[in-house]
Amino acid sequence: MTSDAAPARPDATDEVVDLCRDLLRIDTTNTGDNDTSAGERRAAEYVAEKLAEVGVDAEIHESAPGRANLVARIPGTEPGRDALLVHGHLDVVPADPDEWSVHPFSGEIRDGYLWGRGAIDMKDFDAMVLAVVRDWQRTGVRPRRDVVLAFTADEEAGSDYGAHFLTQHHRDLFDGCTEAIGEVGGFSYSVDEQRRLYLIETAEKGIDWLRLRARGRPGHGSMVHDDNAVTALAEAVARIGRHRFPVVMTDTVRAFLAEVSDVLGIEIDPDDPETAIAKLGPIANIIGATVRNTANPTRLAAGYKDNVIPGRATATIDCRSLPGQSEELERQLRELVGPDIAIEYVQRQPALETTFDGDLVARMSEALRAEDPGAHPVPYMLSGGTDAKAFSQLGIRCFGFAPLRLPADLNFSGLFHGIDERVPLDGLQFGVRVLDRFLRTC
Ligand SMILES: [Zn+2]
Repeated sequence: MTSDAAPARPDATDEVVDLCRDLLRIDTTNTGDNDTSAGERRAAEYVAEKLAEVGVDAEIHESAPGRANLVARIPGTEPGRDALLVHGHLDVVPADPDEWSVHPFSGEIRDGYLWGRGAIDMKDFDAMVLAVVRDWQRTGVRPRRDVVLAFTADEEAGSDYGAHFLTQHHRDLFDGCTEAIGEVGGFSYSVDEQRRLYLIETAEKGIDWLRLRARGRPGHGSMVHDDNAVTALAEAVARIGRHRFPVVMTDTVRAFLAEVSDVLGIEIDPDDPETAIAKLGPIANIIGATVRNTANPTRLAAGYKDNVIPGRATATIDCRSLPGQSEELERQLRELVGPDIAIEYVQRQPALETTFDGDLVARMSEALRAEDPGAHPVPYMLSGGTDAKAFSQLGIRCFGFAPLRLPADLNFSGLFHGIDERVPLDGLQFGVRVLDRFLRTC
């Protein structure tokens, strides 16, 4: 064995598949309702058991019956250093077995993939973390700095019973943590046979979900009526739905596009980044949403009888704001809906953005390049939100880094919350090797 060869880690790379499979077989569907979100406790107990087997004590904290969150700390060898938080959620979005090629909770292995709801979002990463830590414990490896592990509930419904609960009620568990890794980043996008971009999340858009309320005069559906809440609401919803907000280039997107332009050898017009983004194929819909604020109507409610004009009507709009744009987005929306429609926020969580530099980024990049010589790590902004929103409230600098090497033809973004969610077995094992290198050195 030469000195620069990867350390032989057959245990962790073998075990990750079994760990991920076990987790996929625990149905942790998050319905958004505490009475029917049952599996998180079982999953947290499974993780606790796997950690206890190798001598790691974990604490489980329930925010409500069954809504379980697990936290454990692996002490580092250099106690003066800041700690690193490694977090993954255990819940998944619902899956309808009738739509799937395999049962979504069967953990089937087929065609080189492990299939199941949560395979990429994000029991794959949960399993990688467990595999690495178990391997370390068995072989006496210790990280340089404290590594705090958090396995959370409720990420898929806004994290109130998960990461937000932990940061609000168990802040002390994260003492000393200044940086964090979690979803959604570290996955590959193939440029050609030799080169792959690895998208590391350094920013995420804000969540600005709002409810519109229209009021009008109730009345009989058969009569002349010029103050109809449904009509007023429908007009406002249509104006929002058709509106395209202006392009706003953030530092992260600028850095991403500069790197892409370099690696792909294409010119990108800063005034029209979307033409270039459209050429990115499977990741175009992730990146495309990060050059402007967006607002998509998602729910409508009004009326109770076919011939009665209701006095009120409501709609929900899923808005996502770029870093620093939440106030501006609100101003634009108020202008679009006009003075007669009331706006209230159902959820408002700020966007995040950090820089793509420093030791932690260097260690991520090195670990990727060591396992894939064709790796080009690039920063990017996620259009959705993650548990990073909660952890960043503690002043923690959050990155999306759950490394996965993916086949060139896989529509990765389409698998998130999608039908036939699956993770390539070799990608999972690649992730373990990268994570192991990264966590040892960071
Ligand atoms: Zn997720």
